Amino acid sequence: MHHHNITPIGEIQTPFKQKFAIPRQPNLANALGVITFADEFFHPDMLRGIEQFSHLWLVFIFHQTLQRGFKPLVKAPRLGGNAKTGVLASRSSHRPNGLGLSVVKNDGINDINGKTVLQVRGVDLLHLTPIVDIKPYLPYADRVEDTNDNLIRSDHIPMREVHLSKNADKVLRMVSPQYPDLHCLIIDVLRQDPRPAYKHVEDNDEKLYKVQLYEFDVCWKVANGNIVVTDIIALTL
Ligand code: SAM
Repeated sequence: MHHHNITPIGEIQTPFKQKFAIPRQPNLANALGVITFADEFFHPDMLRGIEQFSHLWLVFIFHQTLQRGFKPLVKAPRLGGNAKTGVLASRSSHRPNGLGLSVVKNDGINDINGKTVLQVRGVDLLHLTPIVDIKPYLPYADRVEDTNDNLIRSDHIPMREVHLSKNADKVLRMVSPQYPDLHCLIIDVLRQDPRPAYKHVEDNDEKLYKVQLYEFDVCWKVANGNIVVTDIIALTL
């Protein structure tokens, strides 16, 4: 068997500072990802022509769970969180080699503090996830019609209403010049009800949840089947 070491070509900055509440797949939230390149790989020519593609595949390392190794059977959220399925029949992060694959929107090349970055939208990746490769999405080959995904349909993802408390709304207005997409991101992320699948039946869960997006702790709860953002706390101000 041929063995090959892989060195990331860069890393991606995302609003998701913790695994909790990251959407399960790409394009379920319009989250911005900024890819910076490792000096040893970067050459401006390597991005030439990339603007011709609206979408890109990102190949990345599930770095935060890599140490745990892989499991032949994994819990599948789509099966209610307890039933198990084969790891190769899943998109779980607990896989041999810990490689992930996400198709994202190409948001263009940018220059940040003199460094070339590639911006993408719709990421389902943790902040500072190592990026191994980037390839254009080719609809003529990658878009498959008449597929059968049995249990995995997008209508399995909850779509709850998200309401903001007065205070949360005030904080959002205050920080919007610096974080213009924070409001939409909170709605995108929370309406999917990031609680564990077994909790989804509870419409009046007493627990107060917290998720970190960018530099904010977003506090929320579930009331009458809706998500209520109770507070937004800036961690760095
Ligand atoms: N679209 C990719 C795929 O199919 O390979 C990822 C799917 S995986 C189910 C998405 C989840 O992986 C996210 O919701 C988050 O919990 C987790 N995740 C994202 N980035 C990660 C990282 N760098 N290390 C470990 N887990 C990560």
